[in-house]
Parts: sequence; structure tokens; C-alpha cells
Amino acid sequence: MNNRPINVAVLGSTGSIGQNTLEVIAASNGRLRAVALSTNSRVELALRQAQQYQPRWLVMADQENVVSHSSTGLPPTTEVLVGSAGLSHVASHDEIDIVVAAIVGSAGLTSTWAALEAGKKVALANKETLVMAGALATDLAAQNGAKLLPVDSEHSAIFQTLQTGQLDEVRRIILTASGGPFRQLSIDQLKHVTVKQALAHPTWSMGKKITIDSATMMNKALEIIESRWLFDLRADQIEVVIHPQSIVHSMVEFVDGSVVAQMSPPDMKLPIQYALTYPERWPGPATRFDWNLDQQLNFERPDFDRFPALGLGLEVARAGGSAGTVLNAANEAAVAGFLDGQLAFSEIVPACQSILNQHNYETDPDLERLMALDAWARDEINRKVCA
Ligand code: NAD
Ligand code: MG
Repeated sequence: MNNRPINVAVLGSTGSIGQNTLEVIAASNGRLRAVALSTNSRVELALRQAQQYQPRWLVMADQENVVSHSSTGLPPTTEVLVGSAGLSHVASHDEIDIVVAAIVGSAGLTSTWAALEAGKKVALANKETLVMAGALATDLAAQNGAKLLPVDSEHSAIFQTLQTGQLDEVRRIILTASGGPFRQLSIDQLKHVTVKQALAHPTWSMGKKITIDSATMMNKALEIIESRWLFDLRADQIEVVIHPQSIVHSMVEFVDGSVVAQMSPPDMKLPIQYALTYPERWPGPATRFDWNLDQQLNFERPDFDRFPALGLGLEVARAGGSAGTVLNAANEAAVAGFLDGQLAFSEIVPACQSILNQHNYETDPDLERLMALDAWARDEINRKVCA
């Protein structure tokens, strides 16, 4: 075994995944080192992280923050970089072994791209990159010898269970979903959901955007699309089952009928650590089961009528092309509109559906075209739905 620490760039270090990643690094006895950190707006937290982890780089979103915080006790060895150019610089730097892509939303695409172009290992939390540009991103990884290692707990589970068989022996994968806080609400009750209610997830503590996505079940739709690209599956090989305890993180059914599952208490430190240490497993800080407690595992069929996002996810996974970008951008804009009080909870998914139906589908768009479609879809939501 190589004794040099693994150098990690934690992009989005102040977020939920970023902070969990730093806990994994802190518990690694020096085997993992946080060499780059980044933040959008939580500057105080990023400075505290820099003091603790002494990274070579701290990337801030804008110059203003850099100027106003330049005298606040950053370690002398930490260089401050700015914006998207700073993120791409560290994501592709020779000194970095693995990039944790933990920036939320389409803002995470550029730095993930830079890491893939540079042939890095990418521990991918930012599912939006694969939803927007799965075909291009997986091609880019293959061309440059980069490796996409899933951080999303469902995809980590599938990645782990796939090691018990071959890809061509997979009949289907079964993504588990907690069902979110509104699993048992009627269509009528869903119309009156408030922001506060939607931000209270029953089993996971996460950033705001993914918490709302979990409540609409758009998160599962995005994960269907993420699986399609990450594991090169057809949409008809991907199923969703509701599992309220979030203990079975997903399952693979092989052609012989055997179903292999991965289980652990809900704690993102486990899939994060596996992405960082793969193909090895190390002791770590993730929560363990207490087998002295009585536990139940329940599985229920998802309701596609109350949660139409699921149907959209399958439709977009089937369609490929420009559909993922349009769905992702429409959803990001609609979620922002809901959080700002401009759009009702139950209007988020129909708004996405309507933008998807309106757009001129393209089979094989390049990245520039996808960016243009992304801007168009956001604009449509902002003009027509959140106006
Ligand atoms: P979060 O909101 O807690 O953190 C987001 C991070 O991105 C922060 O560090 C923030 O500073 C940074 N950021 C936001 N906008 C930015 C911008 N414009 N430019 C640069 N940086 C920016 O989000 P999270 O819950 O940690 O989720 C991060 C990603 O991981 C998302 O793509 C999410 O879908 C995925 N994910 C999260 C979880 C989870 O448990 N939280 C689980 C699976 C997947
Ligand atoms: Mg997930």
C-alpha cells in the first residue's frame, strides 16, 4: 500500500455532503488530506474549515468575499482562488488525486467537467451533472481515463452490489426511496404543503434543494436518470420502491432472480468514504447498526399519481438527448420559486412537465447547446410560472 495520503479536493465543502466529507477525512488518521475547499456564501464556515484542515487552496465564489476576509486568519499556506476558474483550476490540478463534486445543482457542472477532462477520480454527489449531460460526461470520463465514483447513497449501493455479478447479468436495479415527508398525503393535501413542512425530511439531513426534491420525489427522478448513465442501463431496467426506513439503500436483481442489497443506517459518511477509498474499505466514522434494537424493513409500491415526478424521471431516462438538461433546469428554477413563495409545492412537477413538453427535443446536443437549453428552461419557468 502507498503511504502518501490521498489528496482530496472537496468542492462544496460547506454543504451537507462537504461537511460529511471533511468528517470522513478527519477520521482517516491522515490517510486522506483535504487539499482544496470551496464555498459559495458560507464564508465564515469555510474559514474555520481552512483553519482546521490547512488546505493548499480555498475557492470562494466571488472577489468581494476574498477582499473582505483576507485578514481573518487564513493559514499562511492557503491560497485563495475565485469563482468557476478557481474551482476548475483545483479540480484539474496534478496535486489532486480525487475530486469530491459536492456543489449543488448545475453550478457543479463546470468543475466536474474540468476534473473529468483531467482524468481524475470524481466522487460524484452532484447528480445534476449526469442528469444534464450524462451521455457527454460518461464519454468524457471514458476518453480521459477518469472514473466516476457514486456518492449518492442509492448509486453507491448499486455500485457495491454490482461487484457480486457482471453488468450483463443484471435484470434490473431497484432504487429505494424514503418517500419523503409527504408519503401518505393525498393529492388534495399536497396542494397545501408549506416550505417549512417540505424542508423537514424524515430520515436524511441535507441541503435545501435536495430536501425539496425529496419531498416532490423529483430527487428519485433525478436518480433514475443518474443510474441510467452511471451504470449504462435502459430505463426499463430501473425500478423504484418506497422504503421508509432508508436502511436498504438500493438493490440489484440479477438474471437468475437473486436480489443483492446494501444496508446501513442512513449516514452519508459511508458512501462518501467508499467513493474515497474504493476499491478498499477502511474503518470509518459512519453510524453502525445496533442489532439489539428491534428493526423493521418495509417496502411499498410508489404512487405515480401522487408523485408524477417518478414518471417524468423514467420518461427522461428513456428519451436522453436534451431532455435531462431541460428537466433539471426547470426543476432548479421551480424549486427556487417555491422556496421564494412564488410557486405552490404541487405546481413544481407540473411546471417541469410543461417545459419538457414545450421544448424542441434534440437527440445529440453538445455542451454549448445544453447550456443554451438550460438557460431557456429557467427563463421559461421564471417568466411563465413564477411571474
Ligand atoms: P448544500 O446546499 O448543503 O451544499 C451545497 C454546496 O455547494 C455548498 O458548499 C455551497 O457553498 C456550494 N454552492 C452552492 N451554489 C454554488 C455556486 N453557485 N457556486 C459554487 N458553489 C456553490 O447541498 P448538499 O445537500 O450538500 O448537496 C450537494 C450535492 O450532493 C447535490 O447535488 C445533491 O443532490 C447531492 N446529494 C446530497 C445528499 C445529501 O445527503 N445532502 C445525498 C445525495 C446527493
Ligand atoms: Mg440519494
